[in-house]
Amino acid sequence: MSFKLSDYNTAKLIIKKLKELNLNLKIMHVCGTHQDTIVKNGLDTLLQECNIEMRQGPGCPVCVTPQKEFEEAKTLAKEGCAVAVYGDVIRVPVEGGSLADLKAEGYDIRIVYGAEDAVKLAKSIRKPLVFMAIGFETTAPTTASVLLNDPPEKFYVLSCHRSVPPALDALLGMGELKIDGLIEPGHVSTIIGLKPYEPLSVKYHIPQVVSGFEPLDMLVAVLMIALQVKRGEARVENEYTRVVKYEGNTKALKVLSDVFEPSDSVWRGLGLIKDSGMKIKRRFEEHDARRVFEDELKQLDSVEFKEPLGCRCSEVIRGLLYPQECTLFGKACTPTRPVGPCMVSVEGACSIEYKYGRLNVKAASNKS
Ligand code: SF4
Repeated sequence: MSFKLSDYNTAKLIIKKLKELNLNLKIMHVCGTHQDTIVKNGLDTLLQECNIEMRQGPGCPVCVTPQKEFEEAKTLAKEGCAVAVYGDVIRVPVEGGSLADLKAEGYDIRIVYGAEDAVKLAKSIRKPLVFMAIGFETTAPTTASVLLNDPPEKFYVLSCHRSVPPALDALLGMGELKIDGLIEPGHVSTIIGLKPYEPLSVKYHIPQVVSGFEPLDMLVAVLMIALQVKRGEARVENEYTRVVKYEGNTKALKVLSDVFEPSDSVWRGLGLIKDSGMKIKRRFEEHDARRVFEDELKQLDSVEFKEPLGCRCSEVIRGLLYPQECTLFGKACTPTRPVGPCMVSVEGACSIEYKYGRLNVKAASNKS
């Protein structure tokens, strides 16, 4: 562990308490940053001593974006638009080639740091620019705010934004894995607050705790879940009180609801989830790439996209499989030659395990 000494002593006390509680738990989180904290600090190995298994669920926005949406971006680049994407998006393997492959062929694919950067770029070029906007409630407000602030005429957004709570509902509803508690992402929760999680605790009788990103935050969150389980409770608690408020960020929520409306959306690994997408409202239709380029994108509706051969990202995304259980992990699939999105994105479970050199971690038995 890379704890400070004071944190180390607190961590020891938490582990002692967890051992005393003597439970056998599977806890899922849905955040690449949480996974990084867990793997970097060996928290999962530590928690195994307390019979607690940690699983990463659908918490990497790039990983859950289906191939069709990458294909939409590729199609618009071929139609003569500049396409602006986040750095890890460009390398995601897609049937027929990634956006990076398209760039190598001479198409105009640019890397940007965010929506505002994309707007600046749109102002500096003559051709239309499409911003492929990927992310959960954390990044969606920045996309919304550029649309509210008089963007350039030829600036278009391909909204690939998604909302976390409907995906959690879908995942729990599948019942593939018995999950005893959910750790909710601190950054998403900063925007949405605690309320959207509450129906899940009622419907599935599952404890949930919003957690920060330090190792101690996560251990405290695990303890809070364990205590709820011990008491037979199922409610939403907030470990990250220094940042997250019950009501969330009301200004950001207003910006989101001004620009987006819920829409059914396909998630890689999870399929179609009701009201989990963020569709641009008609008021901004002149900047909505899907409306403006409807005819060009229509051809993709009938295409069936296959997952890369042997890639098990869908199961990794649902928390059913540890990356090391994929036979391609660290062999045919590495960050320099990724086969699936989970090895590309910095938030992907496979890339995180690889980054910290955990090539041979023995996977615990899964399936509930
Ligand atoms: S190791 Fe590669 S191929 Fe296997 S699940 Fe991860 S990203 Fe997909």
